Amino acid sequence: MLDLVIKNGRIIDGTGNPWFLGDVGVKNGEITHVGTVDVESKDVLDAKRQVISPGFIDGHSHSDLLVIDDPCMDIKLQQGVTTEVVGNCGLAPAPFLEGKGDLLQQYIGPVIGETAKPWSWSSIEEYIQTLVVSNTSENVATYVAHGALRIAVMGFENRPATRTELSQMKHLLNEGMKAGAIGLSIGLLYSPGRYSSKEELAELCEVLPAYNGLLSTHIRGEGNNLIESVKEVIWIAERAGISLHISHLKAAGKRNWGMVSKALEMIEDGRARGLDVTCDVYPYEAGSTMLSTVLPPWTLEGGMAECLDRIRKPEVREKIKAELSEEQEEWDNLIVSTGWDSVVISAVSENNQHLEGQSIEAISQSLGQDPADTALDLLLKEDGNVSIVFFHMSESDVEQVLASDYSLIISDSLGCSTGKPHPRTYGTFPRIFETYVREKKTLNLEQAIRKVTSFPVQRFLLGNRGLLKPGYAADITIFNPETIKATATYQDPIHYPTGVDHVFVNGIKTVSQNENLKTNNGSMIRAQRTLQCSRHH
Ligand SMILES: [Zn+2]
Repeated sequence: MLDLVIKNGRIIDGTGNPWFLGDVGVKNGEITHVGTVDVESKDVLDAKRQVISPGFIDGHSHSDLLVIDDPCMDIKLQQGVTTEVVGNCGLAPAPFLEGKGDLLQQYIGPVIGETAKPWSWSSIEEYIQTLVVSNTSENVATYVAHGALRIAVMGFENRPATRTELSQMKHLLNEGMKAGAIGLSIGLLYSPGRYSSKEELAELCEVLPAYNGLLSTHIRGEGNNLIESVKEVIWIAERAGISLHISHLKAAGKRNWGMVSKALEMIEDGRARGLDVTCDVYPYEAGSTMLSTVLPPWTLEGGMAECLDRIRKPEVREKIKAELSEEQEEWDNLIVSTGWDSVVISAVSENNQHLEGQSIEAISQSLGQDPADTALDLLLKEDGNVSIVFFHMSESDVEQVLASDYSLIISDSLGCSTGKPHPRTYGTFPRIFETYVREKKTLNLEQAIRKVTSFPVQRFLLGNRGLLKPGYAADITIFNPETIKATATYQDPIHYPTGVDHVFVNGIKTVSQNENLKTNNGSMIRAQRTLQCSRHH
């Protein structure tokens, strides 16, 4: 007697093979049958020729705290996502060490957001335990985040780590990997990540091979320094003998458009030499980050409070403005190449909410002010917490990365979905099928599904998931390929998609016709370094 049989679907199993008509049987949270299923079952669902797919994997998000506050995770489950990978870009809320808590909160707040619940963990193992008792409705896996390690050991200090500090960071990384983290994430655009040399990072990464751990990278520069930055992380991975994943590959800034071809070539060349390297991409031409990341890096030394002090000093403010108005050798000045009109405010405090959805350029015009002053004033008023949507990519670059054999597709959604968040938060997965399968035909349905199921599972060591195959976890998404649609837009981003009919997490129906059944049936996934038959261990 099975728990569930889903009948009459177009089965797309996650391998990339063409769909076929058939049924899927489920028992005890696992897939037991695929094909024609004539076994008795407690529950039968007619899929009515809709697509039956493995549940989607969001291999890159910043839901680290959101899953604790909102374990139902409507924003992802409504899109058909059954598993999220957090701890990305060097940002994570653990390890959380006494005396360094404020710095860590300040560091991750703008991306990961805050939580109403107290941070009751210190180590990564304790953070994972917190997720376990939070009873999330989706499955979650995490990285160890480099920024959190550096803050724990040396705060925001802009200098190389000493031998002792490096061995302390190695110790923390080792602990996180032991707890089941899938690898190390680094964010070299952010402080304090940017204060680390490639040599220091390569040495830290010596911890990873013992765990088959992946190095996942938000590279140092995604604009003028894209190629140098890709080179740097390839150097680190080859030096440390580890696998490499380049997060949200893009060429930011108009003058760099087209450079993704070269970056993809470097990935192919690396693979030809035997380097295990891949990348991911989100299906939008705008990114989302903190306003402070557009500033010259030296302004952020010592953390946000010191940065704001610098902005308050008239002579320093003039220096910042002068640097922002010219091309820079040392860092990516995206403002000079893309313009203040491409920077749109997405979230600020209540006082300035009327600015959400407007560009810095438009706001400055209405104030009759220099746009750089508008940006700096806003940072002061908001204590540095200003989130932006940044239109700095070209559509053809996005399509090129989406189409690459070596890219998987992710949301990069932020944890704070206040204000007007980037529409990727609510729309990424439906948009893949709506825009890049149905309309632009960049990918076919089976390729697109592979990029959000079996490929990320293989990449992020998520075990027996991501395929419709006996013995695999029954994470299943049923959707209508003709109507699936992201309704979230840049101006009006807080809308659930349509066309996703049913979502099962570990065999339990979790979303049905846009209703979240709050099943709390997700699991914490610790890295599965060896694939093995799930029923016999
Ligand atoms: Zn990132």
